[in-house]
Amino acid sequence: MERALPEWSSRGGFDLEAIEFAVRDSLQRVGARFLEQLLNTDWEGSSRGWVPCDQQHVSRHVGKREKTVLTVVGEIHLDREYYHAEL
Ligand SMILES: [Zn+2]
Repeated sequence: MERALPEWSSRGGFDLEAIEFAVRDSLQRVGARFLEQLLNTDWEGSSRGWVPCDQQHVSRHVGKREKTVLTVVGEIHLDREYYHAEL
């Protein structure tokens, strides 16, 4: 919101459009951080050493990988646990 205020005074009037864009930008940034936190929440416990497989493969945890995803509220970063199946 701070960035909308200089526009307000320098043009000597009420720049509604600038304020609208500033408000939308702020809300999108908050939304992106919220979405990021929600999707990066480790609901099942982080140090899981394996994942179930219906063909009885053994899975090996190979660490976290980051992925950037473009959403309607902007880019977000996702951290995902990766596993390799050992056949
Ligand atoms: Zn498998």
